[in-house]
Amino acid sequence: MNRQHTAWDWTQAEQHGKWIESAYLSAVQSGDQELLAKAEAVLNRIIGSQEESGYVGATAKSFRSPERPVRGMDAYELYFVFHAFITVYEETGDKQALAAAEKLADYFLQYFGPGKLEFWPSKLRAPENKQKHLDGQSEFAGHSVHYSWEGTLLCDPVTRLYELTGKKKYLDWSQWVVSNIDKWSGWDAFSRLDSVADGTLGVDKLQPYVHSHTFHMNFMGFLRLYRITGDKSLLRKVAGAWDDIHERQMYITGGVSVAEHYEHDYVKPLSGNIVETCATMSWMQLTQQLLELTGESKYADAMERLMINHVFAAQDCENGVCRYHTAPNGSKPDGYFHGPDCCTASGHRIISMLPTFIYAEKGKEFYVNQYMPSQYNGKDFAFSITGNYPESENMELVIESEKAKNKTINLRIPSWCENPKVSVNGEAVADIKPGTYLKLSRKWGKGDKINIIFPMEEKWISRSHHSKYISYRLPGGEVMYKEEPADKIPYAFVRGPIVYSLDMVWNKQLCNDDVDMEQDMRMNVTSKPTAINKPRKDMLGPVYQAKALYKGSEVDVVLTPFANIGQWFRPDGVKPQKNADAFTYAIWLYKAE
Ligand SMILES: [Zn+2]
Repeated sequence: MNRQHTAWDWTQAEQHGKWIESAYLSAVQSGDQELLAKAEAVLNRIIGSQEESGYVGATAKSFRSPERPVRGMDAYELYFVFHAFITVYEETGDKQALAAAEKLADYFLQYFGPGKLEFWPSKLRAPENKQKHLDGQSEFAGHSVHYSWEGTLLCDPVTRLYELTGKKKYLDWSQWVVSNIDKWSGWDAFSRLDSVADGTLGVDKLQPYVHSHTFHMNFMGFLRLYRITGDKSLLRKVAGAWDDIHERQMYITGGVSVAEHYEHDYVKPLSGNIVETCATMSWMQLTQQLLELTGESKYADAMERLMINHVFAAQDCENGVCRYHTAPNGSKPDGYFHGPDCCTASGHRIISMLPTFIYAEKGKEFYVNQYMPSQYNGKDFAFSITGNYPESENMELVIESEKAKNKTINLRIPSWCENPKVSVNGEAVADIKPGTYLKLSRKWGKGDKINIIFPMEEKWISRSHHSKYISYRLPGGEVMYKEEPADKIPYAFVRGPIVYSLDMVWNKQLCNDDVDMEQDMRMNVTSKPTAINKPRKDMLGPVYQAKALYKGSEVDVVLTPFANIGQWFRPDGVKPQKNADAFTYAIWLYKAE
């Protein structure tokens, strides 16, 4: 292993941590022995390369010294290596992985801490930091626009290490990190999360640039500390930020982040560098943690929306690689082929985690958070769910345990569903409330059946808080947005939680694959689209035919789930160049007047 990084290169060294973790999760969950063997080989190579000091990052030895023990990107890159080691230990019991994580943590503890080095941000840039004074400066906490949060995110894996080992030094260190964020950031950005929770401050106002993914990773650390210490102010801060993001900055597809950050007010541009896959990953994990800590179904609803729409939209249909950004309206295949960079690795990491989000068990309580055809084999309880949800509205949950068990099955009733129906062994359950968990307590025996129907309404909806935007750049190059009034409001077609798009891959009849959706396409939103046969069997259905005006002429167009946008070529056609803007697509379309 030849460590040779000395620069701020962010594209190279964040593959291995994410890859090892997702390869182990996928291999263990699927029983894929070949993948497991590959993952073990890579893990052993990385651990074999760990220096005596514990350092296992990508920075050249010649670059490092006691005064500069890490490179600017190390904390962020090693965050994923930490989690990979710990996940491997949890999934397989491999003690050398846990030992490697501890050695790595001890490296940070040796150099960083009270009276030692600190996670000051790098040189604050003008003009956004006009008249700002900081007592320190460092190369250890990532980019200057992250204001130290790209170093403090280590509070999460180091706290996780405390949870596993019980060694108090890890808890103390993580608490020291969090208690210094106000000072290091220079913006009191940690304390002011209380104002976000009060509803008096937008999360985007915490500092001049709020990087979505970095904040999510820190928030997960705060939640871990809450779980250990019971300090409710931490939960309040994170839940408050989540509510603000969910209300103002979450797209209809469940995705978040505008050019990697959070914008002011309701500014969410429709095209461009929108919804970063890294942000999708950490937003989903953060939301799952909040769900586990609070049991509030709004979190599971947000996860469903993201999973059913944006997670798979980002994935290329052929090789499974995920895109960097996947805007609601855009073109393809350009964007699906890139990397290696942060998002190539985050894509497979989030997909490998999806199965861990579906069910939860605590004592006699059992939770169904997400619905999909699947089988659960727990310690003393087993069942299967059949029915092709979300393509179908009907599901059947059948208990498969040999021995009858007293359990409470908590079914998430989605908030978007107006008339949910549940019956147990043919008997209808009364008073089912959308947006809650329905509790079904009894002695469940083999063959007991729960029938679930979540009727999905098909409708055109107009975009709320829509406006137009002009982009500008911060001096360092980050793209930001200014709002302009819009003269017309676009519409999207939805079925329950599923968001549809007009995708030119499936609209060959228009003989113009890169239709300008804003100029030339007008949808008839008063006539109801009709369900038609799916153009491909492996797509999410149903697929619809809708009426539209194309350059003023009446046409029929096909609407397909946004989740399938990663289909970047026609099955019967010539594949476009991988960097071409060959096919346009749009969720948000203007209506015919
Ligand atoms: Zn990324």
